[in-house]
Amino acid sequence: MTGVSDLRINSARLMGDLESLAAIGRASEGGIHRAAFSDAYRQAVDWLIDRMQAAGMETRIDAVGNVIGRMGPADGAVIMTGSHIDTVRNGGPLDGALGVLAGIEVARVLSENKVVLGAPYEVVAFNDEEGAFLSLMGAMALSGTIRDEDLQSAANAEGVRLIDAMRESGLDPDRYHQAAYPAESIAKYLELHIEQGPVLENLDLEIGVVDGIVCQRNIEYTFRGQSNHAGTTPMNMRRDTFRAAAEFVTHSYALLDQGYANESTRMTFGTCAIAPGYSNVIPRETTVRLDNRDLDESSSARLVERVAQIAVETADKYNVEIDINERCTNPAALMDGGLIESLQAVARDLGYSHQVMPSGAGHDAQAMALICKAGMIFVPSRRGLSHHPDEWTAPELLAKGVNVLLQALLRELS
Ligand SMILES: [Zn+2]
Repeated sequence: MTGVSDLRINSARLMGDLESLAAIGRASEGGIHRAAFSDAYRQAVDWLIDRMQAAGMETRIDAVGNVIGRMGPADGAVIMTGSHIDTVRNGGPLDGALGVLAGIEVARVLSENKVVLGAPYEVVAFNDEEGAFLSLMGAMALSGTIRDEDLQSAANAEGVRLIDAMRESGLDPDRYHQAAYPAESIAKYLELHIEQGPVLENLDLEIGVVDGIVCQRNIEYTFRGQSNHAGTTPMNMRRDTFRAAAEFVTHSYALLDQGYANESTRMTFGTCAIAPGYSNVIPRETTVRLDNRDLDESSSARLVERVAQIAVETADKYNVEIDINERCTNPAALMDGGLIESLQAVARDLGYSHQVMPSGAGHDAQAMALICKAGMIFVPSRRGLSHHPDEWTAPELLAKGVNVLLQALLRELS
């Protein structure tokens, strides 16, 4: 007799779904454009609803455009999985799509094997994860953590407001709070996603069990000095802001080797704006922006505090002013300890190589972790590529990821 622990997903069926969805919004150069509320996105939602219904699920679209498929008993706290089917511009076929289609493949396995569910099972495609208008909008609305002012003020790159895009899609933006699930109505949330980084592939591992999603801080440092002639102004009489900024950046990076970093710490100065920006003029103003990520918020706080001291010291040394502005901060989201254990046990039972690791990218799971126990599974990304048309993972590895999801969900559902 075979038990539920012997159930496996149908890889060919999953790959067929991934291929069909990837064809919606695919541009001639191969990348996928499927931004939230776009025509391609709406087409993908229609296709997805068909697939959910064919898998035996009841479907609905909630007040902010999340697509939800459900099966199992009418009552009880929900066991939920999901991800997103919107993409960045010129995106790939797996980011988000994998997690949603994996959830539907699990539903098909449950249906065809007539597994009796002890709790309702829901698959969610969260709207606008990528933030064409507002990053994680759907997941924040469903978890009841969206801020009214953010929803009201959000707009896309073309200046279209989120609330207008919602109206155009037949959603009433004044009713966004109806998308929120009552407290305790979701028991657990699991999400399968591609790693979007090179770690698993480099270690030749099949599965990543995520222990947390790092916090992200974005801080702007503006040095203000004085423009002057690059030829006539002696070196000791300058107020050169780029020279100060360059030294500031170098000393900040040096902190990584001075006890200010753990394994999850990431530090990136990704922009530098110099004014007036002529080779024969001393820079009057230089702005650099730091992206700092860390699983441990206190470690991030310590680093950012020391970076601020360095900014002040360097500004002082070069006789310039310094302005420090925190632009945005996303808190870290820790995954549930019990689910981390359970996912490791499932990977072990299935004989898949795995390790526990943090996520350096944001995911719908971080919003869900605010209201229920959340867990995440990673599969390797070929060459670490994501948000790119060449984003890919071998079908055998995708199937292993979905089998981990299936077995982990079965432990919760049966
Ligand atoms: Zn994603």
